[in-house]
Amino acid sequence: PSPPAAEGPTLLERHRAVMPDWMSLYYDEPLELVSGRGRTVLGSDGREYLDCFGGLLATMVGHDVPEITEAIRRQSSRILHSSTLYLLSGQVRLAERLAAASRMADPRVFFVNSGTEAVEAALLVATAHASSNQVLALRGSYHGRSFGTVATTGIRAWSATGFSPLQVSYLHSGYRYRSPFRDLDDARFVDACIEEMRTIIETSTSGRVAAMLVEPVQGAGGFAEPPPGFFQRTKAVLDEYGIPLISDEVQTAWGRTGRGPFGIHAHGVVPQLLTLAKGIANGLPIGAVVAEAEIMNSLPANSISTAGGNPVVMAAANATLDYIEERGLIEQADRMGEVLQHGLRAIAADSQGLVGEVRGAGLMIGVELVEPGTTEPAPALAVAAVQRARELGLLIGRGGLYGNVLRVTPPMTITAEEAARALELLGETIRSLASERLGAPVPVA
Ligand code: PMP
Repeated sequence: PSPPAAEGPTLLERHRAVMPDWMSLYYDEPLELVSGRGRTVLGSDGREYLDCFGGLLATMVGHDVPEITEAIRRQSSRILHSSTLYLLSGQVRLAERLAAASRMADPRVFFVNSGTEAVEAALLVATAHASSNQVLALRGSYHGRSFGTVATTGIRAWSATGFSPLQVSYLHSGYRYRSPFRDLDDARFVDACIEEMRTIIETSTSGRVAAMLVEPVQGAGGFAEPPPGFFQRTKAVLDEYGIPLISDEVQTAWGRTGRGPFGIHAHGVVPQLLTLAKGIANGLPIGAVVAEAEIMNSLPANSISTAGGNPVVMAAANATLDYIEERGLIEQADRMGEVLQHGLRAIAADSQGLVGEVRGAGLMIGVELVEPGTTEPAPALAVAAVQRARELGLLIGRGGLYGNVLRVTPPMTITAEEAARALELLGETIRSLASERLGAPVPVA
């Protein structure tokens, strides 16, 4: 990295002067990433970090993967022209792959540039199909910050801006740890959620509902996943009322849950609409909607996006999907997810009650930090943990309804050695915070 200029404002000062106040940065001393390879990134502070958050920030299979970098380079020297007016082979190829994996009867696909746009477009299509602006969403959800998506986002920190074009009714998300039904067994817990769902459909909607929008694993909501049976029974109720299901797979596709390309399929459910984004082009901006033709074709418009389906992005996405397939990375995500969750449970048992719950699906792992002996969220502790991990050379994220959940979501290529190293650093992070907080000695690692 080049040395800082002797005079003039720092990059951080310039950032603060020109960016809006709500663009908050991680860390006491915010980090500039200058390069990356595999699961390692280099900061302009001259330090190397093990990246256990990049999976969410779109580097699905790691940084500077030669096959993907080469696919981007090759296509960018051919043609960059984005258009829905000419044929593009990369676009058709990617659409065929998403359609084949969707398990839908008659799928249609189109591309946009982000997750927000994908969900917004799915809502546009579904509301046009039903001639209704009524939508069901889950508490604790995050779907974006455009008018439709912010209206379906159930976390106040993200949704408190919204003037909504939609009428949204929120349903129980199945997030057991923060539920009044948490002590019920799985079957009765799901019964309670489903009963509430029926009541809301019957009493809070007109009966003509355009769609229900869910995340298979809530991302910003803190990697919370409902128990077995929740989505299957939800889908059965929706089918009774003729309400299409949209599964927002912006964080879960392509295989981050370790259970197949789409997270919702592991619950035995095939939705009528799917949205994808984030990592499927390994960092280049992309969004996609897959929907049953009968719903998709109800939109009386020519196209939705100029840049959506850009050939360079399509080349990156096809190369990313090839890379995942050829290397069996979905199975690897499952295996490494198990290793990380198992290790984190051991760390939790040794945390003097600071860890309320470790949960996850594949490489979406949440660590819920609480006030010891309670379920009260401990957001300041989570901020401190993210900071401490960085000091130790590990990048992790934070989320949850109260900002108290650590999010561990490395690229799907993480190796056993790197997972072991991540656990060492996470253990050190949690133990050092417990000892500062509760005065116990720090065990020697
Ligand atoms: N849906 C989900 C589930 C997300 O996690 C996000 C982003 N965090 C979005 C939609 C919005 O995606 P984007 O930021 O690419 O617009």
